[in-house]
Amino acid sequence: MQPIACPKCDSSKVVKSGIINGRQRFRCKSCSYHFTVQKLGKAIDKYYVVKALQLYIEGVSYREIERILGISHVSVMNWVRQYRIKAPENYDYRPTYKIFNHAELVNFMTKNSNLKDSSMLVTELGDKYMVIQWERFKHR
Ligand SMILES: [Zn+2]
Repeated sequence: MQPIACPKCDSSKVVKSGIINGRQRFRCKSCSYHFTVQKLGKAIDKYYVVKALQLYIEGVSYREIERILGISHVSVMNWVRQYRIKAPENYDYRPTYKIFNHAELVNFMTKNSNLKDSSMLVTELGDKYMVIQWERFKHR
């Protein structure tokens, strides 16, 4: 990610301060102002473009991507067009996703039943982790 600067005092001494509606929240150490990455203007970090397109290819809907990343579904649709992304058609195995902090992720991984008969992808999302999981190998 590119260095983040405080929109109020332009200091780069900012620290992560949780996630709100899927948006990374920051706190400025110089002036204590709280802000999210969305407030930095129209130039959304490439990091989120890549994440959004990843989710799109995995079969996650525009509305769901909006909810997960806090990025307008219109932006996501524009990126899909701009980068000419094609998701596989007739995608039968829609993924489920969960968002964990690190301790929750470790706990999730310790249970064999959560890993068995499925494939998954762990991706960093702000200061949390998202687990995308496919259960295509599960016997129904
Ligand atoms: Zn500041």
